[in-house]
Amino acid sequence: QFEKKFKEFFGFNPALWHSGITKKNKKIIWNGIITEKIKVVIGARSSLFLPFKNLGMIIVDEEHDQSYKQDEGVIYNARDMAISRASFENIPINLITAVPSIETFKNVKVKKYKISKILNRFQNASLPNYEIIDLNKAKLQSKSWLSSEVIKKVKKHLDKKDQVLFFLNRRGFSPFVFCKKCLNTYLCPNCSINLVYHKHKKNLLCHYCGFKSNLNRKCIKNEICDFIFSGPGVERIAEEIKKIFPNENHIIFSSDTMNKKNSLEILEKIVSNKISILIGTQLISKGFHFPNLNCIVVVDIDLSSQGHDLRGAEKNLQLYHQLSGRAGRTGKPATVYFQTYNLNKNMIFDITNKNPDIFLTKELELRKKNNLPPYQRFISLIITSNDEKKLQKQSFEFKNYIQTKLDDLVLGPVNAPIYKIRKNFRVRLLIRGKKSLKVQNSLSLAIQNFKFAKGIKLSVDVDPISFN
Ligand SMILES: [Zn+2]
Ligand SMILES: [Zn+2]
Repeated sequence: QFEKKFKEFFGFNPALWHSGITKKNKKIIWNGIITEKIKVVIGARSSLFLPFKNLGMIIVDEEHDQSYKQDEGVIYNARDMAISRASFENIPINLITAVPSIETFKNVKVKKYKISKILNRFQNASLPNYEIIDLNKAKLQSKSWLSSEVIKKVKKHLDKKDQVLFFLNRRGFSPFVFCKKCLNTYLCPNCSINLVYHKHKKNLLCHYCGFKSNLNRKCIKNEICDFIFSGPGVERIAEEIKKIFPNENHIIFSSDTMNKKNSLEILEKIVSNKISILIGTQLISKGFHFPNLNCIVVVDIDLSSQGHDLRGAEKNLQLYHQLSGRAGRTGKPATVYFQTYNLNKNMIFDITNKNPDIFLTKELELRKKNNLPPYQRFISLIITSNDEKKLQKQSFEFKNYIQTKLDDLVLGPVNAPIYKIRKNFRVRLLIRGKKSLKVQNSLSLAIQNFKFAKGIKLSVDVDPISFN
């Protein structure tokens, strides 16, 4: 959709750079950039490494998007790298967002960044209203995840030919499967995580390593297992919707359904309102323009402060604004309905407020008070090995060593929340330090002088986003 808009506006096609393009095209673009024939590149994270000679400007769209962070292999945050590159080359950089990340918000507050605001929404549409449906009162039927209250509201929208989105950020049918008789679950053999049941693909899938399995297995006494599918994924919500609204077209909008050749066709159908109900994961919050979408149901919003994730609240804010940005884009009244058990009224009020600065200001104060990023530097050290014993021993040795080399606080080692991924056990240390380059420098020196045993790997994640 973005490429099309670009062509309409500028009258020429930009060069597109992402992991999916062919080798041949990569070569053409690479050459075009060296010879300065290509003037504009629209690129994913890796486009920052292209050999621009005379780069004039960088624009980072949706700067708050946490997928700019690459968590595997070489760990880096493409947004921050873009900022560094612009600073080295002494060129302007524009960070674009509806709701800034907390780091960017802080940089605006301390006047490191200049801000300009677009005061009117596209086509002057107003932001949607929101309503909360208290699931403690609106009791759900068994094996049902949509309250009768929400169904009534949705019916009204459908009667007006509004498109409806049910949002649930969980792929597949059910995230947790176990047997009533033998009580066995399905764990990934490579990761310490449940396999998610995908009914359409008829398999159980690990969302971390891609391990696949099926439901066939022997129960006790050589019987067949009697499965309980616990909790919903988008496929399950789709089944419920099919029962409630048998005459409406619906589609699941997730990475399982939208990375295929026909996804452009599906997008067309959504835009032309041939599909009345969407059931979507986070994928749908990313910048699409669906003119008839005027009703969003957030199936289950978890507003409890999310334990180990210091960005939990910020993520909820981003998600809400991204979602509501999808609704009511052509000026018709639109509503976002939240189903929730957790009636954190203040939190809901803050994140749904049309002015996100209110939330961000509070959140920033909280971070300052508790000495959290962006006021302090966090560095995660993740030590992994397929030898659990060796890993435990080495991580303590490493902790003791590194603590003597740094002035900063080193926390841990603790087992990572996802203790095993791809057969490797994982232990985490966390360094909390002042915001200066000093800690990075001392750390990189110290690491070079520590000899890890064979089969032990260390990853360093500066300004971590994921704490899994
Ligand atoms: Zn796995
Ligand atoms: Zn069983």
